[in-house]
Amino acid sequence: MHKNIRIIGAGFSGISAAAMLARAGYQVEVYEKNDRPGGRARNFNEAGFTFDMGPTWYWLPDVFEEFFEKFNRKVNEMYHLVRLDPSYRVYFGPGDFIDVPAGMDAIYQLFEEWEPGSSVRLKKFMEDARYKYQLGMKKLVYKPSLSYFEFFEPWLLRGIFHGDFLRSVSSVVRKNFRNMRLVRILEFPVIFLGSTPWKTPSLYTLMNYADMGMGTWYPMGGMFSVVESMVCLAEEQGVVFHYNAEVEHIHTHNGLARGISLNGQMMEADLILSTGDYHHTESALLEEKDRSYSEKYWKKRKMAPSALLFYIGLNKRINGLLHHNLFFDEDFDRHAEEIYKTPKWPEKPAIYVSCSSKTDSGVAPSGFENLIVLIPVAPGLTDSEEIKKRYFEMSIDRIEKLTGESLRQHIVYKRMYAHSDFSVDYHAFQGNAYGLANTLDQTAIFRPSLRSRKLKNLFYAGQLTVPGPGVPPAIISGYVASRQIDAYLKSTSV
Ligand SMILES: Cc1cc2nc3c(=O)[nH]c(=O)nc-3n(C[C@H](O)[C@H](O)[C@H](O)COP(=O)(O)OP(=O)(O)OC[C@H]3O[C@@H](n4cnc5c(N)ncnc54)[C@H](O)[C@@H]3O)c2cc1C
Repeated sequence: MHKNIRIIGAGFSGISAAAMLARAGYQVEVYEKNDRPGGRARNFNEAGFTFDMGPTWYWLPDVFEEFFEKFNRKVNEMYHLVRLDPSYRVYFGPGDFIDVPAGMDAIYQLFEEWEPGSSVRLKKFMEDARYKYQLGMKKLVYKPSLSYFEFFEPWLLRGIFHGDFLRSVSSVVRKNFRNMRLVRILEFPVIFLGSTPWKTPSLYTLMNYADMGMGTWYPMGGMFSVVESMVCLAEEQGVVFHYNAEVEHIHTHNGLARGISLNGQMMEADLILSTGDYHHTESALLEEKDRSYSEKYWKKRKMAPSALLFYIGLNKRINGLLHHNLFFDEDFDRHAEEIYKTPKWPEKPAIYVSCSSKTDSGVAPSGFENLIVLIPVAPGLTDSEEIKKRYFEMSIDRIEKLTGESLRQHIVYKRMYAHSDFSVDYHAFQGNAYGLANTLDQTAIFRPSLRSRKLKNLFYAGQLTVPGPGVPPAIISGYVASRQIDAYLKSTSV
């Protein structure tokens, strides 16, 4: 009889693992507490607008291609992907912005304009970033990181200790470039990893290769169309998805997970994979004796930021915005301190504005625009209607001032979303948006393990374990967990 695997959570990591495991011949069922798949990458439709609730940047297209290729499918058979050009706009003041173009030649030219001579250094910097990309994204992220010995390979050690890997992203960027606008552009991708460029090892300048070398893409329909395609693929493999299905407990006996409880009913399992937030699985679904990590351990973890989000429908077009817009008119270093060093609601935050209706006419009524405003904020803060409203007004003022467009009287739809929503919707520890930060001491072997230390047949995947936050890493996390699970189940059936 086929072994039965129950997966908690239908985010990218859960769907990825489910599809792989079903293809390997297991009987796979996925339980998701929300009414649709996608996890943090869900979407919603209101008043004729479609909003991706979480991820909006489609980077690392090769990871998506490689995932679908495992099933002999091509990305363009699954959804329609377009490359954005310009990739994004960065505002530095009212009417003062840089559009980052698609394609390296145009980017070299842009750097020359802002810092004469810098394009030569950028070429060298990008070669290095590409090398790190090959090492990081093609090799390191596929390590399950269960043992130090995985990393004792001569080529890998040579790579890891090559050059400046242990310095920070900031020190490497600022050694090469003086113009602060260019520095901001090169440092911003690290925000996706949930830490500051000063705290992130320079291995992660691989993100600059992802940004400039590989480009910013958009799946028509939004990021949720990727979720739908992956669910469709998983269902073709035989996966059964259950929505509005919150797992309440993991039953254990003699060092093994025996099943899950749903609506008070126990369902047996040969193996359980939890892709819900790691802390929630441990603290709410398992008894203390079965937890791998103590509360003290979790208190010491550096969580990636939470996010204050505004989903806004406008009854007019906005000229001053592109699809992706970063507002770096305020001091980002100060904002970073308010996220990481002295956690508090930020005074003058950097903000990000997505406007996918610039590319996709299907996500807003004709002549209208769908905006998502995102402010990264420290995890663990208490949000309230009053705080959210204050930042909403501040964001609208900023966007109006910088773009020179009136917005306020054109708002026809508005929804606000913050820490408490992340906690209620996803059981997010401290209301985190992006999981666990990828700092040097929370990378690979130093992250919560994808295998339970107490229960042989309980595994984990997702943005709190390896390799880390982001959609491509979540897909890889599910894949890596599926391989470990397959190896474990094969070893127990002999
Ligand atoms: C606002 C925001 C913006 C982002 N922007 C980007 C971006 O532009 N590009 C990018 O690549 N990444 C981005 N990310 C990060 C990316 O979305 C995540 O890293 C990724 O989607 C995480 O996937 P996951 O499977 O690890 O977790 P999740 O998506 O959180 O999935 C876990 C699932 O488990 C479910 N669950 C939890 N507990 C239970 C339970 N007891 N029973 C049943 N189900 C349960 C949850 O409901 C959830 O659906 C963003 C994230 C956010 C929040």
